[in-house]
Amino acid sequence: MERTLSIIKPDGVAKNVIGEVIKRFETDGIKIAAMKMIQLTKTQAKGFYAVHKERPFFDSLTDFMTSGPIVVMVLEGEDVIAGNRKLMGATNFEEAKEGTIRKDYATNIEKNVVHGSDAPETAAFEIGYFFNDLEIQRR
Ligand code: GDP
Repeated sequence: MERTLSIIKPDGVAKNVIGEVIKRFETDGIKIAAMKMIQLTKTQAKGFYAVHKERPFFDSLTDFMTSGPIVVMVLEGEDVIAGNRKLMGATNFEEAKEGTIRKDYATNIEKNVVHGSDAPETAAFEIGYFFNDLEIQRR
């Protein structure tokens, strides 16, 4: 059993696709172990995306991530890190496969609806950034 962090980004919330995204997780057999809606401050967004701080799009990305509420979830399942990335599709929605969340709902390379951890180490950091142990359901 593996865990990963998923975020429905401000564009996804604004487009009213929270339910659609969650439906895709549930249809795939993924369990939601924690969930909340919050709005990040700039400082919080910068902390979350610290690995990208040297990238040219860092300021734009962290502005976007603070522009409205987000839904943050801990997803649980077998190989859920890779499974979630597959459901999400490529970062650039123009390169994403048909039927992926980003292909269906992204606006551009930045406003791409969802975030998902890309490895066990990043998942552990990202889950801990938003949730404490008491907030994550155990099965
Ligand atoms: P992810 O793991 O697929 O989310 O992709 P990355 O970790 O490479 O990038 C993090 C996020 O930064 C992406 O999901 C996009 O929202 C944003 N991003 C990535 N590349 C670009 C870019 O070239 N320009 C802009 N403006 N945003 C980008």
